[in-house]
Amino acid sequence: MPTRKKALHGIVKMHTCHTHRHSLKRLFTQANYQLLSGACLLCGLSAGQDMDLCRACEESIPRLGLHCDICATPLKTVGICGRCHNKRPAFSTVQTPLLYQYPVDLLLQRFKFGGQLAAGKVLSQLLTRHIREQFDNGKCTLPDLLIPVPLHWKKRFLRGFNQSEVITRELSRELKIKHCQRAVKRVINTPAQHHLSKKERQRLPRNTFAVGRAGKVLQGARVVLVDDVLTTGSTVQTLSQTLLKAGAKSVEIWLLARTPLDN
Ligand SMILES: [Zn+2]
Ligand SMILES: [Zn+2]
Repeated sequence: MPTRKKALHGIVKMHTCHTHRHSLKRLFTQANYQLLSGACLLCGLSAGQDMDLCRACEESIPRLGLHCDICATPLKTVGICGRCHNKRPAFSTVQTPLLYQYPVDLLLQRFKFGGQLAAGKVLSQLLTRHIREQFDNGKCTLPDLLIPVPLHWKKRFLRGFNQSEVITRELSRELKIKHCQRAVKRVINTPAQHHLSKKERQRLPRNTFAVGRAGKVLQGARVVLVDDVLTTGSTVQTLSQTLLKAGAKSVEIWLLARTPLDN
């Protein structure tokens, strides 16, 4: 009897192990499936790549074509736009892969105002790819430091996060570049830029930003300012001036998207 009991126990044990292994395998397969093949954020079909965007939707995303070598304003020819020609901005150049048009605007609104971090991640991945391509083609160098464009603390508190910090962290991790979000702070809370007229946007007070607690990191550093979208550029212009005054060697801008034309 004890032998039979032992054998039965063995069968039960084997069965349990098998079932356990089977369910574990299924779990891993499901986890892998979810990790490797999320749904496309735009069409809902399987993305089939390492970002939540399928290849067809990725190809339909509007890219920035010919643009000003300095401020990335879309142009009809290669070169520098009239405004940069008349007066060089404080930053040296703007890098951005996308145009702020459908569906980039939709993804960005979902990220900024709907708190959908997956949308922010997809846009940040597209920017990372662009920077890698530019770097591989010798069209850009990697900086010493990434700095997210700061939000005033009240705005950050209300939104719950700063979109530029989320983008910066993704870039920092993927490109292995240090980042710092306490080097500079926004001390004047200006209204959201898209609520303002073009004239009002250009009137950003010079003391809108101030050097923060970790301001020392700026000394002699080649800095990249990270932001979501550029409209008139008054924010990055004022901020670049603050950073250069605080000792930064140079300032470059990396953005998710550029508005099609100045509006
Ligand atoms: Zn899709
Ligand atoms: Zn320009």
